[in-house]
Amino acid sequence: MRVRVLPVQLINQIAAGEVVERPASVVKELVENCFDAGASQINIDIEQGGSRRIRIRDNGCGIVKDDLALALSRYSTSKINSLDDLEHVASMGFRGEALPSISSVSRLTLISRTYDSACAWRINADGSDQFDEPEPDSNPPGTTVDVEDLFYNTPARRKFLKAEKTEFSHIEALIQKMALSRFDVGFTLTHNRNEVCQFAPVTAEVEKEQRIAAICGSSFLEQAVKIDVESLGLHLSGWIGLPTFSRSQQDRQFFYVNGRLVKDKLVAHAIRQAFHDVMFHGRHPVFVLYLTLDPALVDVNAHPAKLEVRFREGRTVHDFLFSALHRAIAEIRPGQPVHQPLILDRALPEADSSSNGERPLMQAGYAYRPSAQSPLPYRVEETIQTYGKLYGNTAPAINLQSMNEIPSPKDFPLGHAIAHLHNIYILAETPHGIILVDAHAAHERILYEKLKTQTAQGKVPSQPLLLPLQITVISAEAELVETATEQFAELGFEINRAGPETLVIRAIPVLMVNKNVENLVRDVLSDLGEEGFSNRLQERSQHILATIACHSAVRAHRRLTVDEMNALLRDMEHTERSGICNHGRPTWVELTHAELDKFFLRGQ
Ligand code: ADP
Ligand code: MG
Repeated sequence: MRVRVLPVQLINQIAAGEVVERPASVVKELVENCFDAGASQINIDIEQGGSRRIRIRDNGCGIVKDDLALALSRYSTSKINSLDDLEHVASMGFRGEALPSISSVSRLTLISRTYDSACAWRINADGSDQFDEPEPDSNPPGTTVDVEDLFYNTPARRKFLKAEKTEFSHIEALIQKMALSRFDVGFTLTHNRNEVCQFAPVTAEVEKEQRIAAICGSSFLEQAVKIDVESLGLHLSGWIGLPTFSRSQQDRQFFYVNGRLVKDKLVAHAIRQAFHDVMFHGRHPVFVLYLTLDPALVDVNAHPAKLEVRFREGRTVHDFLFSALHRAIAEIRPGQPVHQPLILDRALPEADSSSNGERPLMQAGYAYRPSAQSPLPYRVEETIQTYGKLYGNTAPAINLQSMNEIPSPKDFPLGHAIAHLHNIYILAETPHGIILVDAHAAHERILYEKLKTQTAQGKVPSQPLLLPLQITVISAEAELVETATEQFAELGFEINRAGPETLVIRAIPVLMVNKNVENLVRDVLSDLGEEGFSNRLQERSQHILATIACHSAVRAHRRLTVDEMNALLRDMEHTERSGICNHGRPTWVELTHAELDKFFLRGQ
């Protein structure tokens, strides 16, 4: 067979294979063109999930009559001139591929009018390079692209289209994403002539928040922390939902790089790491985040549909994102409680079972405390003293010095303990009302954070046992210890393999002195064995720490004294992430005066 040049329409159809996967991808390309044209209003009309019709109208700059045919030709663009431009792309489009590709797999009509033109001009296209003369049209200034019968001439593609409803839901999700990227642009979306959503163009912060609430759920912002961090030319702003406002799907995660919605592995990894030890297993955070940086530092030409980007300094971006988010999450703690109506029906509402899925796991009294009021410096000795009391088996010695004069609840955000209910929940009176604390969950988080601080400082205090303890385990567990001897040492354990199925324990962390060492080591090993070890050093020791914390925290069956409870409350106030236990569950909830009054219909 001889080599020959393919007809233009076929070339365009091949290109369309990459760009035009389904109706939503057509919508994406066309709306991006409206953005680039400076439109402030975009109307999107869809029929039959987009396979019958996708019509997009904007009030942007328009295209002059003589450029209409060119706009529909391959590799024709008004957006870049040179390679140098490509390296600083600020527009959404730049390849000149979308219109010819779409027109090669549909019946496309382009109608456009510039502001200084007396009338609009219309042209039809079929993906070839043959065009009839444009005809006058009555359209107002701006551009309309009408795409009918998508994939009518590529039956293989058409077969892959899903049900009308599914295709439309992709389009709707896309418009939501685009609406969050450009608050200054108004959108209307109709399906089969029924209006589905409408966003007016906005500038004020409250109006932006209304748009976010319409898309992420009305309670999202009440359960979110606002982010605004800048460093090394990178700027991150937006909102992250508290860990309890999580979802079973990753469907409310919006991340924009210079206004472009992207799904990027590096970004995803940084965010996952930041939420790593506050997220309940299998749940996903909700966020709307905007990263802005010099366009020269991002390669937007890395993916056919421009869904991924490549950062020129990936490591820097990753570390910046991780530390900004990690910091913000760490600062979630008692302080200025978010006043939330507490749900009376206490069955934990599953986010997905509620009508629109935005209900948090449980409404907890979290608050974001700005770093200006950062926690008191933390001292190891003090902690050990307090915690010796918390989990010692004997009754603790009464009273810390500070507890002698009883301060008023006003002095502490988490107030004063009144009782230990059912040996599980601490009831405390606070300046704003009352709170209930899950003592085990809170203690576990505090221990975990302390152990982490201690390991980071390289000094988990260790205490030798009077007599080395020999225990028999299964060989897999003995191997586990052998491969992780060093990590265990960093964590205050001196533990070695002494035979195929024998371990010798010579020293343990001071925090665990009063525990049944043998049981604890067995528990830690069996947890680790079951969940597997990650090879990453840091994750590995965090895992061990979390397990130690869980097994060392006060157990539900032991009744705490008032002093112990107050010590725990004070520690929660000073501990990072103390609003969330290591498994991502809330550690405390608040009932405010107002809510209490409401329950009893007081003052109504
Ligand atoms: P690209 O966006 O990569 O330039 P397209 O095929 O999407 O390529 O569009 C080709 C050209 O048509 C654009 O460069 C632009 O000049 C013009 N164009 C497309 N859509 C619009 C629009 N809605 N308003 C104004 N001009 C448009
Ligand atoms: Mg384009």
